[in-house]
Amino acid sequence: MKVGLVDVDGHNFPNLALMKISAWHKADGDVVEWANSLEYYDVVYMAKVFTFTPDDLQAYQTDTLIQGGTGYNIALTLPEHIEHVYPDYELYGVEDTAYGYLTRGCPRQCPFCIVAQKEGVQSVKVANLIEFWQGQKKIKLLDPNILACSNWQELLKQIADSGAEVDFTQGLDARLLTNEKVEAIQACKYKILHFAWDNANDDFTPKVLAKYAGKWGLRQDKLKVYVLTNYNSTHAQDLYRIYKLREIGYDPFVMIYDKYNAPVKTRHLQRWCNNKIIFNSEPDFANYNPKRGVRP
Ligand code: SF4
Repeated sequence: MKVGLVDVDGHNFPNLALMKISAWHKADGDVVEWANSLEYYDVVYMAKVFTFTPDDLQAYQTDTLIQGGTGYNIALTLPEHIEHVYPDYELYGVEDTAYGYLTRGCPRQCPFCIVAQKEGVQSVKVANLIEFWQGQKKIKLLDPNILACSNWQELLKQIADSGAEVDFTQGLDARLLTNEKVEAIQACKYKILHFAWDNANDDFTPKVLAKYAGKWGLRQDKLKVYVLTNYNSTHAQDLYRIYKLREIGYDPFVMIYDKYNAPVKTRHLQRWCNNKIIFNSEPDFANYNPKRGVRP
C-alpha cells in the first residue's frame, strides 16, 4: 500500500497520531510519505489539531481519505492497535525526544477546554513510559492532568527512573500538589515546569504555588504559570494574577482565549508579560507603551 500523510496545522510540534499511523503502516511493509497532490495513494490521513487554523483544501488523489484530530472531529480516535505502537519519530526527524501520553482525561471539566469531552472526566493511565520512550534524553509528556490519575506515583517514578529530562507540556495542576507529589516531581529531571492559573476566581492555586515555590530548584523564569485571559476574567483580574505570580516566585505567561477577537488591551498585556525583556525592564503594565515597548 502507498500511504500519504498530511499534517494540516503542524508547526514545530510533531503530530503524535501521524507518527503512530506511520509506524503501524511501515511495520506492515507499506510505503509512507508526506502526501503530494500529484500522486495517487491507497489511503491519505489528514491530521488537524486546532479548530481555528485554516484547512488544507488541496485535492489528494485517493479513494480513502481519513481526517482526524480535534480540528476535524473530536470523536474520532485511533484504533487501539495503532494507539499503542511505538511512534515513528523519524517521520519528523526527531532524534532524541520522546512524545506521548501516560494518562488521558481530566476531572476538572474547565468550560474552555475540550479534554473532558474528548478523553473523559477521569484521568486514567493509558500507557507505560516504555511504550513511547526508548532511551531518548528528553520526554515531552502530553498528559492533560497526570496528577489527577490514581497511578500518579507509579507513573512519575517511571519518568524519574528513566533519567530523561521531562517537560510536562500541558502544565501540572497545582491544586493537586501535596508533599508526596512534590517529592515525586522533584525526583524527575526537568529544566522547566509549567503550571496554570486559569480561573481568576480560584484563590487556591496561588496559595499552593506559594507554599511550594522554594521546592523546585529552578530559577523563577523557569517556573512558568499559564494565565488564561479573555475568558470570564476582567483586565484587573488578569493583572492581579500576573503581579501575584511574580510576587510569589513564578513567571506568568499570558494565554488568550479566542485571540483573534480579544480586546487590544489584552493583546498588549500578553506582549508585555510574555516578552521577558519588556516585562523585566518595565514591571508596571500602566507604564507600558505598546508603540515604544517601555517608557524611556
Ligand atoms: S485542568 Fe487543564 S486539562 Fe483539565 S479541564 Fe481544565 S484546562 Fe482542561
